[in-house]
Amino acid sequence: MPAEVLRWQDLENTARQFFHIHNYKEIRTPYFEETELFARSMGQTSEVVQKQMLTLNSQKEEESASHYSLRPEGTAAVLRSYIENHMHRHENLSKLFYVGPMFRGERPQKGRLRQFHQMGVEAIGPQSSSPYLDAEVIAMSVHLLKAFGLNHFTLRINTLGDDSDRTNFARFLRDQLGDRMNTFEPALQKSFKDNIFRVLDSKDPQAKKAVKGLGLNHSYLSKESADYFAKLKATLKEMNVEFEEDFGLVRGLDYYTHTVFEISDPSLGSQDALGAGGRYNNLAGQLGGGGDIEAIGFALGLERILLSLGENKSVASSPLSYYIIALEENFFGKAFMLLNALRHEGIAADIGYKSASVKSQMRTANKANPNFVVLIGEEEIVKNQVTVKNMKTGEQTSIALEEFERFALENR
Ligand code: AMP
Repeated sequence: MPAEVLRWQDLENTARQFFHIHNYKEIRTPYFEETELFARSMGQTSEVVQKQMLTLNSQKEEESASHYSLRPEGTAAVLRSYIENHMHRHENLSKLFYVGPMFRGERPQKGRLRQFHQMGVEAIGPQSSSPYLDAEVIAMSVHLLKAFGLNHFTLRINTLGDDSDRTNFARFLRDQLGDRMNTFEPALQKSFKDNIFRVLDSKDPQAKKAVKGLGLNHSYLSKESADYFAKLKATLKEMNVEFEEDFGLVRGLDYYTHTVFEISDPSLGSQDALGAGGRYNNLAGQLGGGGDIEAIGFALGLERILLSLGENKSVASSPLSYYIIALEENFFGKAFMLLNALRHEGIAADIGYKSASVKSQMRTANKANPNFVVLIGEEEIVKNQVTVKNMKTGEQTSIALEEFERFALENR
């Protein structure tokens, strides 16, 4: 609704300015793409691909069902577009941002919708991994939330290391959890083989208990990966970005490598994630781009941000400057032309489109909440002037018609 839209625009305006300061450029990708793109990038074993994809059903044979899906997130499409448009040929590092709707077939509840909105960034380029870039992206997500007026959230970070570190970590988890696997819920037992990391994300009480007892640490990391993460943490500290290290944070999607992070507001209850992100150095290779194209990004959920801000942050609309009232129907044509002249000068103005009693027009004018009301009646027409009422002071003045445009430009 219009009053809510003001709050959305306020967030979007703040974000666009913020992204501009960091030299991120906006990219707009389609709302639906080939199902295969999402399935391949997010991983067949991810919850989104298994349970939440909204797939289009076309009448046409060649666009057969399941060929296209509404986008459940932004990263896959941004990277697809990056590769298709050969962006690496034009710049070493592409810093992109997006704002828009995403779609997931979930059971709607507070803070969880089937159509929701994200704003996110992706920094993509050949051999672009740098702890400084990771620190920039993480710090941006925190600073952007602060720019929106949020303060009560926590940032958790972790690293998954590179492919061989990930494999080591997965082996460690399988070894440690193997004999308890049959106590977990069936869906989780299935992911034991395909994607053991889901155990770490799981809400299953048995799995939670088992994970708690693991005493996770970073022993699976190579020296290189450990150094990278140490540099990232040191940089975040220098930037005064507060974080907690969470060894169990892995994120639900297959494509993450190295840095992962999540931001949550505990006061939001069960849907407490405000946003999340991480580095994905293998995705471009998987999608047919150069294997050396590396990337990091984050996405924030707008509905969650608005919930977290609560009702107290209201945003005022830009005011209407003039509301014009014709005191009799036969003066309406003149009033209408005056309205158009004001708008032509870039002055926000409105009118009631049908003749009505002065009282009723005045009531409508009050609702429109203009700075000035202009009255045109018999006397005004005869004397070639208008009567202008300042709605703040109540003061009423007559102004010659040829003077009015200048007056309006100076008094909005
Ligand atoms: P994800 O890609 O699942 O990590 O989502 C990133 C962010 O988008 C989350 O932290 C939420 O703020 C938001 N989000 C994800 N799914 C939904 C949903 N169904 N409804 C509302 N917000 C969502």
